[in-house]
Amino acid sequence: MNNPALAPVFNHIDKNRDAFVARLLDYVRQPSISAQNIGMDAAAALAEWHLRALGMTVERIETPGHPMLLGQLGDDPARPTILFYGHYDVQPPEPLEHWVSPPFEPTIRDGRIYARGVADNKGQHMAQILAIESHLAATGGLPCNVKFLLEGEEEVGSPHLAQVVRDHAERLRADLVVTADGPMHPSGRGTILYGVRGVASFELRVRTARRDAHSGNFGGVMPNAIWTLVHLLATMKSPDGRITIDGLADTVLPPTEAERAAMARLPLDIGAVLADMGMTRLDAPADRDYFERLMFQPTLTINGLHGGYDGPGSKTVLPAEAVAKCDIRLVEAMTPEAVFAAVEAHVAQHAPDVTVIRQGAMPPSRTSMDTPVAALLRKAVAAARDGAVLDIPSMGGSLPDHAFTRILGVPAFVVPYANADSANHAPNENMRIDCFLAGIRTGAAILTGLGNWTPGG
Ligand SMILES: [Zn+2]
Repeated sequence: MNNPALAPVFNHIDKNRDAFVARLLDYVRQPSISAQNIGMDAAAALAEWHLRALGMTVERIETPGHPMLLGQLGDDPARPTILFYGHYDVQPPEPLEHWVSPPFEPTIRDGRIYARGVADNKGQHMAQILAIESHLAATGGLPCNVKFLLEGEEEVGSPHLAQVVRDHAERLRADLVVTADGPMHPSGRGTILYGVRGVASFELRVRTARRDAHSGNFGGVMPNAIWTLVHLLATMKSPDGRITIDGLADTVLPPTEAERAAMARLPLDIGAVLADMGMTRLDAPADRDYFERLMFQPTLTINGLHGGYDGPGSKTVLPAEAVAKCDIRLVEAMTPEAVFAAVEAHVAQHAPDVTVIRQGAMPPSRTSMDTPVAALLRKAVAAARDGAVLDIPSMGGSLPDHAFTRILGVPAFVVPYANADSANHAPNENMRIDCFLAGIRTGAAILTGLGNWTPGG
């Protein structure tokens, strides 16, 4: 710890360790499975109770889906305002038979709490809440204004977040957004992520005849639906790994100097990655840097290709119908609308009988590593953790940060608190208790570290 102002706060956290763990156990005992609409109201009420216990004013914002909670504490215009974002919904726990202890009966084994949602995301925003509580208890006040936005639909793609942020932009106004979600770097070092990739999912569907046919009686005259998709897909990406959809990547921004330097500092052992996944090689293109591919390049993934017969033995069928499910990961400054339009134009040109069906999408987001508050945040996270902080320019996956960077127009950072092996979305999801406590300390250090900042000053 290199900030003496934190000593009483960290003391408070140490003294209340067991009570804080008990609070988290209570919180994760309440199911909140958004995809199955189980326990959502009760979970929202519980989250609201926790925010109110801080002395926050809380508004429950109804949406066509599950409610969001908007809490606020302090509105001193001379102080910076931090907006913390999190989600109280969790992934479905299935398959249940793979859980060692039931997903909604939190159990402690070997220093870890096992429960659905304990890492993703209840343990992480609970750490943020307890950081605020500890700061208040130990120092009698907060050095920043604090806002909290908790949604109940992150695990189903945040379909209403952008609209709520647009409608409540004034109430949500902040100088920066901090999200504690996702896993920390496997090294356990403090981690800050500055961006996320977006995603656009779609289906390609084709029907070439009213019904399947005999591959002899019609073979050579009836078009094969699967071949139609295979030929089309082959025009969309080349064997050397380049996406060949016209215009798709026109708006891709190359990494900045700072981002290149940050990527070069990230630990990487490609041999270990290959061994861990049982791969013999990395995907093409071989000439592109590992992290640049994950953070600064779009992808085109065939999630599944279906049609014809795949039962036992053989069946000499000529399929009349086929579907390919695909997703494209987007990087700054691509937009889902432009990506869908480029795919549709490409398909219309190369396979006019194929239909594109748009599915869910989320824009990418990027915050400049050089933005002034980034240096303060780095220092704050380092104050709560031993050793330097790892800067990760972007996560490969997607979070709805675009609502903050593009709609509110403020820098957004992800500061994960969960262990890298938390098994989020999988059976036996867990959070290490030491990570939970380090998360509370980090949250408190962020409040202290940003307290002296004058935005725009
Ligand atoms: Zn998740």
